[in-house]
Amino acid sequence: MQFTVDREAMLRRLVAYCEIDTQADENSTTCPSTEKQKTLSARLADELRALGLDDAEMDEFGYVYATLPGRGAAAEKPAFGLIAHVDTSPAVNGSDVKPVVHRDYDGGELVLPGDPSVRLHPDRDAPLGECVGHTIVTTDGTSLLGADNKAGIAEIVTTVDTLLRHPDIVHGPIRIGFTVDEEIGRGADKFDVERFGATAAYTIDGGPVGLIEDETFSADSVVLTCHGVNVHPGYAKGKMTNSVKMATDVLARFPHDRLSPETTAGREGYIHPYSIQGDEEKTVVKILIRDFDTAGLATKENEIRTWAEAVAARYPGGRIDVEVIESYRNMREILEQHPDVVARADRAARAAGIEAKRGVIRGGTDGSRLSFMGLPTPNIFTGAHNFHSRREWVSVDDMEKTVRTLVHLAAIWAAD
Ligand SMILES: [Zn+2]
Repeated sequence: MQFTVDREAMLRRLVAYCEIDTQADENSTTCPSTEKQKTLSARLADELRALGLDDAEMDEFGYVYATLPGRGAAAEKPAFGLIAHVDTSPAVNGSDVKPVVHRDYDGGELVLPGDPSVRLHPDRDAPLGECVGHTIVTTDGTSLLGADNKAGIAEIVTTVDTLLRHPDIVHGPIRIGFTVDEEIGRGADKFDVERFGATAAYTIDGGPVGLIEDETFSADSVVLTCHGVNVHPGYAKGKMTNSVKMATDVLARFPHDRLSPETTAGREGYIHPYSIQGDEEKTVVKILIRDFDTAGLATKENEIRTWAEAVAARYPGGRIDVEVIESYRNMREILEQHPDVVARADRAARAAGIEAKRGVIRGGTDGSRLSFMGLPTPNIFTGAHNFHSRREWVSVDDMEKTVRTLVHLAAIWAAD
C-alpha cells in the first residue's frame, strides 16, 4: 500500500495545539476541570469539519466527536475509534508553551533556549540517539510540551487527512473522539460510548515507537479513618486516645523495602500512602492500591485491615474505619475477550515496517475505564518521550510512523 504523509502539516498542527494552554486542574469539580480545554476542542471540531467530517462537534463538556465515513463496500463495516485527550498534566507549568523545532538533528546536545540548564543529550535520553537526521520538537525549557497528548491528536487528524488524500485506500467508518481531563483520571467520566458507536477503539497516547499497551494496573484507593478521643492535654491522663498516633502506628507496619512505588517496577504492585491529615480526634490517611491482578488488590486491602485492627485494639476507645474505593481495573480483563482488537494493532504496525512491542502501563488510561464501559480500547504509541516534564520531546519522523500504522489499521479493519 503506497501513500504519503504530509509531515509539515502534521508539524504545524502539533505546534499550534501545544501553544494552546489546556492544563487540567485536579482541584476543580467542573467538567471540563478548566474551561480553556474547550479552546482546543472547539478548534479541533472546526478543523475536522473543514477537512469534510460534517458531523464533527464539541459537546457541552468539551468532548469532540466526529466520523470519517467508510468507502464503497467497506462503508457498512463496523466502526472503530481513535481517541486522544486535549488536556495536559498539572504536574509542570503548562502555560506559555513555546515549542522549539530542531530540524535535521545532529545527534548532539539540545540546549533549550528558555532555560539553558535544561538540556537533552543521547547519553541521558538514549532514544534521541536513534533520531539523528529527524525533526525534533522540544519545549523551550520553561514548561511541558504537551506532546502528551497533542502528538496523538496531530497524528489522528493527519491520519484523517492522509486517508482523504488517498481515495484508493479502502476503509470502514472511523470514529474520532477527543476527551478532556484524562490527566486527572476523569477522561472517561462524560464519554458517551453509545454516541461514539464504535465496536472498539484505540487511544493514541503511548510512548516510544512500536509500543502497544493492553494492560493497566487494577487500582483502588483506601481511606483509613482513625477515630481517637480528645481531651484537653492538661487533663488527658487515662482519657485521651490520640488518632495521630494510631495513624502513624498503622503506617509503621507498611513495608519499607517492597510493595511501594519507590521499590517496584514492571509487573509488581504496591501500597502507597500519599496523604495524611488530622488531629487528636480524627486522622485520615489516603492510600493508593495497585496490582496487575485484581485479586491482588483484595490481598493488599486485607493486609491493611489486619494492621488497622491490631492497632485499634491497642488504643482504648479508638476505632479505625477502612474504606475501599474502586478506581479502575486492568483493561486486559476485557481485551482478552476481544483478541482481534490488539492483534490488528500489531498487524498494522508490522505492515508499517515497525516491530510491535507489548507494554504494561503502571497507571490507568482513558482506555482502562472505556474498556469496562463496553468499548475495548488498547493504547498505541505516539512516539513522544518524557511525558509531564520540561524535557518532553517528540520526533516528527516517529510521529509519521504512528500515522502510517493508523492508516494500515484502517485498511485492516476494512479487510477483515
Ligand atoms: Zn496522555
